[in-house]
Amino acid sequence: MKLEGSCHCRAVTFSVVSTTCRPFMHCHCSICRKTAGSGGYGINLGGDARTLKVRGGKHLGLYHAVMREPGRRATRSPAERRFCVKCGSALWL
Ligand SMILES: [Zn+2]
Repeated sequence: MKLEGSCHCRAVTFSVVSTTCRPFMHCHCSICRKTAGSGGYGINLGGDARTLKVRGGKHLGLYHAVMREPGRRATRSPAERRFCVKCGSALWL
């Protein structure tokens, strides 16, 4: 199914094809809670990245989380967390 979404200010809109019947799931990991608020944010775990279409891409920000574990050196995650630089909405990972 084709899913469509946007940030709060609608500067960024997107669509993606997903194989899941439940289009949006919520992530409550510590990184999502810190970057997007106490409840985390809506993500789609079955979206096919090859079908992602974005309008307003110039308003996209990129964040790579720094992973810190006791006793280990901090590392930068290769995962791309995208957000709207105008309104701050977390969009996808
Ligand atoms: Zn926005």
